[in-house]
Amino acid sequence: MSTDSTKLAFNDGWQYAPAPESTDHIQIDDHYGLFINGEFVAPEIDRYFESINPATEKPLSNIALASEKDVDRAVKAARKAYTGVWSKMSGADRGKYLFRIARIMQERAREFATIESLDGGKPIRESRDIDIPLAAAHFFYYAGWADKLEYAFPARTPVSLGVVGQIIPWNFPLLMAAWKIAPALACGNTVVLKPAETTSLTAMKLAEVFRDAGLPPGVVNIVTGAGPTGAAIVNHLDVNKVAFTGSTEVGKIIQRSLAGTDKKYTLELGGKAANIIFADAAIDEAVEGIVNGIFFNQGHVCCAGSRLLVQESVADEVVRKLRDRMETLIIGDPLDKNTDIGAINSAGQLETIESYLSIGQAEGAEMYQSDCSVPDQGYWCRPTIFTGVSQSNRIVQEEIFGPVLAIQTFRTLEEGLTKANNTPYGLSGGVWTDKGSKVFKMTQKIRAGVIWANTFNKFDPTSPFGGYKESGVGREGGMHGLGAYLKLEA
Ligand code: NAP
Ligand code: MG
Repeated sequence: MSTDSTKLAFNDGWQYAPAPESTDHIQIDDHYGLFINGEFVAPEIDRYFESINPATEKPLSNIALASEKDVDRAVKAARKAYTGVWSKMSGADRGKYLFRIARIMQERAREFATIESLDGGKPIRESRDIDIPLAAAHFFYYAGWADKLEYAFPARTPVSLGVVGQIIPWNFPLLMAAWKIAPALACGNTVVLKPAETTSLTAMKLAEVFRDAGLPPGVVNIVTGAGPTGAAIVNHLDVNKVAFTGSTEVGKIIQRSLAGTDKKYTLELGGKAANIIFADAAIDEAVEGIVNGIFFNQGHVCCAGSRLLVQESVADEVVRKLRDRMETLIIGDPLDKNTDIGAINSAGQLETIESYLSIGQAEGAEMYQSDCSVPDQGYWCRPTIFTGVSQSNRIVQEEIFGPVLAIQTFRTLEEGLTKANNTPYGLSGGVWTDKGSKVFKMTQKIRAGVIWANTFNKFDPTSPFGGYKESGVGREGGMHGLGAYLKLEA
C-alpha cells in the first residue's frame, strides 16, 4: 500500500539535516514590566509570572502581573494622550507614526519571528513568512487610511471613540496585536492592550518599537496579566470600546458585562469551519488545502478547517492521500526551518486536545495519527484525523483548537451545505470544486464570515474578518474594520 511505502521512504530513508534559526541575535530580558505612558514600569504589586518555551518547558522570562490599579494607570495615560495629543493630531501625522512603526517592525522582523516561535511554539517558517510580515502589513495598510477616513464614509463625519481596551489570544500574538492596534490608532483612538498570558513577549518587543518610533507617551499602553487583568480593562468606566479576540466562552462573559453600558464592542470568537471537497475538485491541491487548513500552526487557528466534508465518490481517495501526506509532516523544534508542526502552546491546551481525542474515540469514531516521532520534552500532538463521525458528535460540534480533523461525507450539494452550517459557529469555510457556479452557490449559503475557494487560511489586511452566530460580533480588517473604531456623525 502506498501509505506503507511512504512511511518506509520517509522514516527509514533520508531525513533533512536540522536547520535551526539561531537565537544569538535576540535579547529577552529576565523581567518585563508594564508599558504605560511610554515607559516600562514596575507593576504596583511586585508580582510576576513565567513565560515558558512550550517546546522545551524551560522559562524564557518573567512577565508583570497587572492589577486593577495598574489597568487604571494605563487607562488614565491613554485618556491623557487622547485628549492632549492624539485626538488633536491630523490624520496625515498619525499616518506617519504608523508608517514608521511598520518600517521598524520590518527591520526587526527576524528577531520578532524568532521570539514568536520560542514563546508560542509555532514553526519559524510560519512566524517568519506569515505572522510578522502580516503584522507589519496591517500597520502599512491602516497608515494609508489615517488621513482618508472621510472618503471611507461619504457624507458622514467620522469621529474617534476615545480610549479603546483590547484583549487578544495566544495563537497569533504579534499579528493580533497589530490587527487591533493599527486601525484603532489610524482612527484617532488611544489604546490599552492585554496580550495572552502565555505569549506576552512579542507585545513587549512591540512596545519597544512604539517607543523607538517616538509615538507620543500613552497612545498605546500594554498591560500583561491573566483573565482578571482583561476583566479590569473591560469593566473600566473610562474605556469607550472593547475589542476582544478569544474563546466564545470568555466572549459571552464580556458581552454580559458590557450589556447596558454605552461601550462599543467587537468580539472575534471561536470557530468550527468546514472544508468542503467536491468530487470535481483538483484532489491533490485540495489535500494540500486540508493539511494547511488544520495542521497549520498546530490547528491553533480560530478559522481552521477542523471539519472535512468530502463528497462520497472521492472520499476514499482523499482520505488515503491525506494519510500519505500526514506521514511526511515533520513535527518538532519550532525554530527548525524544516518543521511543519511545532509545539502545542501550553500544557493546558494539550490537555484539552487530548481530552477531545478520548471523547472522539468514546463516541465511536476511528482515530488515525501520523507515525512521526515527537521530542521527549515539551507539548506535542501528532496530526490526527477521525473518520466514522456523525453530525451530533462533540468532535464535530465543538472547537478543539489543535491539529485534529473530523471527516464526514456528503452526496449532494444540499447535504454538504446543511452539514457545513450545522454547528453553533460561523467564522470561516472552504469550498474546493472545478465549477465556478458551485463556488458562488456555496459561498452565498454558508453562514460564515470568510469563505475561501480552492485555497484555505489566506489572510490580508484589506479584507474584512469576523463571525456569524457564536463566532462573534462585528468585523475587523479592511475598510469595514475602520467603522469599528469610529462614530459616524451626520
Ligand atoms: P481565551 O481564553 O478566551 O483568552 C483570550 C484573552 O482573554 C486572553 O488574553 C485571556 O487572558 C483573556 N481573558 C480570559 N478571561 C477573561 C475575562 N474574564 N475577561 C477578559 N479577558 C479575559 O482564548 P484563548 O484560549 O487565549 O484563545 C483561543 C480562542 O480564541 C479560540 O476559541 C479561538 O477560536 C479564538 N480566536 C478567535 C479569533 C477570531 O478572530 N475570531 C482569532 C484567534 C483566536 P489569559 O491569556 O491570561 O487567559
Ligand atoms: Mg510562552
